[in-house]
Amino acid sequence: MASDFIYLDHQATTPLAPEALAAMLPWLSGPEAPGFANPHSMHRAGRAAASAVEVAREQVAALLPKGGRVIFTSGATEAINQAIRANPRGDVACSAIEHSAVINAAVATGAALHELPVSAEGLVDPEVDLPQGVGLVAVMQVNNEIGTIQPVARLAERAHDAGALFLCDAVQGAGKIAPPEGADLIAITAHKLYGPKGIGALWVRDGVAIAPFMAGGGQESGLRSGTLSPALCAGFGAAAALAKERMDTDFQHLSGLAGLARSILHRWTVNGSEEARWPGNLNLRLDGLNFPRLLSDCRDIAFSAGSACGSGTGAPSRVLSAIGLQPAEARNSIRIGFGRYTTAQEVETACRALEAAAQAQGV
Ligand code: PLP
Repeated sequence: MASDFIYLDHQATTPLAPEALAAMLPWLSGPEAPGFANPHSMHRAGRAAASAVEVAREQVAALLPKGGRVIFTSGATEAINQAIRANPRGDVACSAIEHSAVINAAVATGAALHELPVSAEGLVDPEVDLPQGVGLVAVMQVNNEIGTIQPVARLAERAHDAGALFLCDAVQGAGKIAPPEGADLIAITAHKLYGPKGIGALWVRDGVAIAPFMAGGGQESGLRSGTLSPALCAGFGAAAALAKERMDTDFQHLSGLAGLARSILHRWTVNGSEEARWPGNLNLRLDGLNFPRLLSDCRDIAFSAGSACGSGTGAPSRVLSAIGLQPAEARNSIRIGFGRYTTAQEVETACRALEAAAQAQGV
């Protein structure tokens, strides 16, 4: 990262790992080499591209539970839309802090949507009452705004007891913590785990029936039509393999950075559980903070007001409202997100700058 710009917005997206970029380049060739071939073609170059896709599929599958298959998609939004169409009975129950991809995809199918409340800690109660007749329960693994880790294994059991499928949006946890247990459907995306943008995957437990929602050439065993990009697949696969290999190291690195940030920003309150959280995400608030002024005073730091998708609308964050924050408290909150390549020096510089800018506001 350029030395004058500190990137602390890793929930929005992550930088491409050099290893992922290197894996992509052979498949981005021009006419001088056959790497551009269509992986669905039968000739030699096509078969080479197809085998790169299959290697990547194995690498991505290694991040996910056993007993299922990986379908490549354009990202998690598409994977979630596809998964929601597997719903056998219509009604959907999802946590109040799901990503809008889940909520809006469910609404788009015409499903009746039941909201599962979250505590002030930002956690779904695993013993929550599930509505009668629900066909699909969707609860994310790690929340993108506040970083809380949900009790998905128990919720999956509860969904099954109720005769429903369980969908887990594991976008923010994939490659960072162990995969969600018990899910029938898992959506992930490469660009949150140091892979390229434009590719994700839907994991489908063996025996779960899903219907394609795009008609076309019938690629991905008829489930997702359209020509796959070997470059994107290879980048996703390499990023997944690296994430698996570095999972513990990355976790320790991020825990250290979070501790450092907390020690500098000790006046700020953490939004959401202090314990059940992913350490790469700190959502903090300071009473009276003027967020637009902070953003302008600290323009060399990339941080966010809430989720990247929601910021800029002026509306208080839906997630922060769901954990019981008043609109003013939600507006006094910021999200800083660390990543594998963030250094302690960057965190120190950025947090000192944020604290000094807040103090200059008199808060
Ligand atoms: N789910 C969560 C929790 C996310 O953070 C995001 C990305 O912002 C998505 C889904 C959508 O992912 P994609 O950008 O791959 O469509």
